[in-house]
Amino acid sequence: MTTQTHTIPPQSGRGFHLKAGETIKIIDPEGQQVSDMWAIVPDDPIDWLSVSQTRDINERLFPAVGESFFSVRGQKILTLVEDQSPGPHDMLFPACNRALYEREGLHDHPNCHDNFMSVLDSEGIEIPSVPDPVNFFQNSTPQPDGRLEVLASRNPPGGYVVLRAETDLLIVLTACSVDFHPTNGSQCTAIEVQLL
Ligand SMILES: [Zn+2]
Repeated sequence: MTTQTHTIPPQSGRGFHLKAGETIKIIDPEGQQVSDMWAIVPDDPIDWLSVSQTRDINERLFPAVGESFFSVRGQKILTLVEDQSPGPHDMLFPACNRALYEREGLHDHPNCHDNFMSVLDSEGIEIPSVPDPVNFFQNSTPQPDGRLEVLASRNPPGGYVVLRAETDLLIVLTACSVDFHPTNGSQCTAIEVQLL
């Protein structure tokens, strides 16, 4: 079996085509780097990973190893087969976006929302809105009093997850662009991807 390794440079995004049964390994080489993920089913009609359907069907905030991610239409499209990170992962926050940075006084800042849109444009795929992503390695578990706070990622260098496609998919991944908050350990680094 050959393994292809790809690097997503800091504050950027990339798309990967997977056939049903293929697996993808998402690695954080330097640690504390969040990676946003979307999964698009590029059939007609187009379908995509829904974090709300996934929370509902699994009855938990994030799938456990062996559980799956589900699409808007309730189809099982991706399974978490291995998690070699301390977590947690997030399925409550949107992708970072232009407005978030503008609230911090930062204009024309790179962001995961736009990086996702650029990949979809290059693939010639249009969907009606930007779905909320899966935020791997993002430390934002709800607090006991209900507050939602993003803390510094706990992922160590080399922490990774492995996912198996249950149908043909376009996976879009980013190396998150937040460089001022503790989110990514206050430093944006690369994400490495292996298609197995
Ligand atoms: Zn981001």
